[in-house]
Amino acid sequence: MQLVIYNTLTRKKEVFTPINAPHVGMYVCGPTVYGEAHLGHARPAITFDILFRFLQKLEYKVRYVRNITDVGHLENDADEGEDKIAKKAWVEQIEPMEVVQQYTLNYHDCMKELNVLPPSIEPRASGHIIEQQEYVKRIIASGFAYESGGSVYFDVEKYNQTYPYGILSGRNIDDMLSNTRTLDGQDEKRGSLDFALWKKAKPEHIMQWPSQWSDGFPGWHLECSAMGEKYLGKEFDIHGGGMDLLFPHHECEIAQSTAANGTSAVRYWIHNNMITINGQKMGKSLGNFITLTQLFSGNHPLLEQSYSPMTIRFFILQAHYRSTLDFSNEALKAAEKGMERLFAGYSQIESLPVQAESTIDIKNLEDKCFAAMLDDLNTPILISHLFVALKDIQAVANGTLSISAEDKAKLLSLFKFWLLEVLGLQTPKKQEGNSQGITSEVIAILLDMRLAAKQNKDFATSDKIRDELTKLGVVIKDLKDGYEFKLP
Ligand code: ZN
Repeated sequence: MQLVIYNTLTRKKEVFTPINAPHVGMYVCGPTVYGEAHLGHARPAITFDILFRFLQKLEYKVRYVRNITDVGHLENDADEGEDKIAKKAWVEQIEPMEVVQQYTLNYHDCMKELNVLPPSIEPRASGHIIEQQEYVKRIIASGFAYESGGSVYFDVEKYNQTYPYGILSGRNIDDMLSNTRTLDGQDEKRGSLDFALWKKAKPEHIMQWPSQWSDGFPGWHLECSAMGEKYLGKEFDIHGGGMDLLFPHHECEIAQSTAANGTSAVRYWIHNNMITINGQKMGKSLGNFITLTQLFSGNHPLLEQSYSPMTIRFFILQAHYRSTLDFSNEALKAAEKGMERLFAGYSQIESLPVQAESTIDIKNLEDKCFAAMLDDLNTPILISHLFVALKDIQAVANGTLSISAEDKAKLLSLFKFWLLEVLGLQTPKKQEGNSQGITSEVIAILLDMRLAAKQNKDFATSDKIRDELTKLGVVIKDLKDGYEFKLP
């Protein structure tokens, strides 16, 4: 079976051929942990979780590295502005590493809810300062970086004389040069496209480390080059991330590794497309910034209800990872219903009557599911095949088609394989509304019993009923000759 995957670098679909099969090295840019995990984090995590799961189903041994950015990511994604984490720490008057810890835990919690498998290695930028400094030294030695005022910059124009800069994003250096501001004489950089490999820290900057150039911190693009090489080698198979990272982040990574090692490090660049909300880009200033915790609880002005993590996951998988995806209450509710139907069909298989002969073609269904995923991870097509299978299940149930015992077992394992193991979906949890399913009728019966107990001076029983109901969140108010209550 051949997996075909779209390579952003060559701009075409290619047969996936690992450097050292059956081993596969995969690096994905993880979150910068200075705020709660949001919708924008869910899509890359789920996209590469699907790839991670499917590659293992194809019997590859995958080493999946997904980093945590905890230093060096400045506000405007370039070389100016404050470090996002240091700024948050200052605002909240806590240590930067407390910010990192808090939001790393939140990210992990959300990923677990979304049933995203943990990566094989999850390195942090701040734990690899030495590796990054060594990397800078190699780029300086190759002649493509220079020191200036205690900082070290990558010389983009010099690099471009030997290697093409802009190959990943398809940008042309002359266009880029004419579109950036010209440097004033004060600037430390030689060229306006140059980016920092090491930044000298101002004295008040909290996160800084000693180096031969200055007390400072690494440039944001450097961590992925250094950690990718450390855990996956100088050349590895897959590098992934959101399309928003393509430029400058990934473009700079290619320049760094080419300058340091003479090789661009990565064979297949894979990028997921972005999420919009009601047709708009998500952003704090637009008031449509929704965290995953808010989605799961429904606690946001834009949300008409809460959405389970599995609804979010299913919704994301209903679109191809290279298409844009628009979130709206309508679309999420439709996804919720669709997923419930799939699981209802899956649980119906068990009870199907069996015949000696099958008129249902399981092999054909299996082939179609594989074909969809082998063609650039086409999850929407895969899901549509599962929906078609629901019709067959219905037809067997009402007797227009028949299924043998052997095929029934195959159909069950087919659903388990694709729905649970590859798409990573889990049986939707029963709606917890009206908590644990207590109804007002049941509560009225219990409170009548409590009233009777009180009249019989059996206060132990009456108190127990009150305490247990209170624990379930029922609010009880005693009246002169009866009671009032409110459901949780
Ligand atoms: Zn990265």
